[in-house]
Amino acid sequence: MATAQERREALTGVWGVARGCVRCPELAEARTQVVFGAGNADADLMFVGEAPGANEDRIGRPFVGQAGKLLDRLLEEIGLDREEVFIANVLKCRPPGNRDPLPVEIENCSSYLRSQVDLIAPRVVCTLGNFATKLLRADPTGITRLHGQAEVRVLGPRAVRLLPLFHPAAALYTPATLEKLRADFARIPELLAQPAPEQPAPEPAAVEEEIVPASPAPAAGGSEPPGEEPSQLGLF
Ligand code: URA
Repeated sequence: MATAQERREALTGVWGVARGCVRCPELAEARTQVVFGAGNADADLMFVGEAPGANEDRIGRPFVGQAGKLLDRLLEEIGLDREEVFIANVLKCRPPGNRDPLPVEIENCSSYLRSQVDLIAPRVVCTLGNFATKLLRADPTGITRLHGQAEVRVLGPRAVRLLPLFHPAAALYTPATLEKLRADFARIPELLAQPAPEQPAPEPAAVEEEIVPASPAPAAGGSEPPGEEPSQLGLF
């Protein structure tokens, strides 16, 4: 079992690769920066949203706009704050004009999310909205049918409790959705109190694509001068 420090260092290595990513040329060209994710690298609870918007692209952190403020409020209502959890997105780059992520972009970016889930090893993963729910459940069923229904899912090498939630942006201007989101959030403490789900037998040899961080983390695509500690290091 990795220590918190080991998780943080490994995550920092993956971020070092992701920040120079050009797998999606249109997104790499248009972004201000890669929004890798933020929070506690040793978190029991992880949220996965859709993609950075304009504010996130500018600031470099996920969920810093109105939807993020709502997420903070909902966390506070269940006695948590964002430093205790880890927040990431399906896409690490802002789609121009906030358009929906394209299937090829989701595929290109999926190894980063997979590495994040593997390294953080949360016990509970909340998917926010359709894109994260469909990706992590590997199933096209939409959030309207699934929200609030926790299930055990195997993500990479580990089983987690997965709880699909409406995206906070969808609840901003729709009181009925907000009430459903709030009711679903209220289930999180009980999920965190449950023991970790039974784990699958370990695979003898991992053949899946892995992110192998270069050492030291490359500066390409990032805004940090070489040799300086990247400002995003403080995020996890
Ligand atoms: N919406 C998302 O899905 N992610 C963010 O980071 C911000 C808004």
